[in-house]
Amino acid sequence: TSFQDFGLAETITRALSEENYVTPTPIQAQTIPIAITGRDVIGIAQTGTGKTASFALPILHRLLENRVRPQPKTCRVLVLSPTRELSGQILDSFTAYGRHLRLSATLAIGGVPMGRQVRALMGGVEVLVATPGRLLDLVQGNALKLGQVEFLVLDEADRMLDMGFIHDIRKIVAKLPHRRQTLFFSATMPKDIADLAEHMLREPARVAV
Ligand code: AMP
Repeated sequence: TSFQDFGLAETITRALSEENYVTPTPIQAQTIPIAITGRDVIGIAQTGTGKTASFALPILHRLLENRVRPQPKTCRVLVLSPTRELSGQILDSFTAYGRHLRLSATLAIGGVPMGRQVRALMGGVEVLVATPGRLLDLVQGNALKLGQVEFLVLDEADRMLDMGFIHDIRKIVAKLPHRRQTLFFSATMPKDIADLAEHMLREPARVAV
């Protein structure tokens, strides 16, 4: 397979060529054809396997199929990740793959003042990459509303549970529209993770590398 085979928008495949992506990794080859149809996916994959592109590329493609201006204080894509560092890497990936799209994307991570994040969300964004605690703070402070989320990604779900984010994640998911696409990634799948996924996903396809 090559990236041309997935039917991704040309503006996306052009960015991939410029990033010197030639051959999809196994998690990409398995996930992209399913996720591009709108189906939920539960993926077992470690970091370093290319899993970021496996969710970012089909989501960007689907965003473009119906490009609408986000409403103030909303996002269309919400990515939850356990740490500031991983969140920053995920945002960088969206920015790289979306370089020809004029994508609006921002971070909501803890450990830094909220003011800049509040201002960045004011006009609404297409993609928000967040750690769960800070995301809830922004929602509770009325800087962000979750009613317009169309795509939810949980990245490194096992690490988020290990870090004690389970209650925050459940609170966040309870505020999301039921009609959405959810992509759930974890390096391991013990029972508590499987239960969380069961609660969040609708007839998911399972992929593993
Ligand atoms: P990830 O597992 O998503 O953190 O990706 C690990 C690294 O592999 C990142 O530096 C990506 O930019 C790179 N990468 C992901 N997919 C590909 C690909 N298909 N071809 C070349 N590099 C890739």
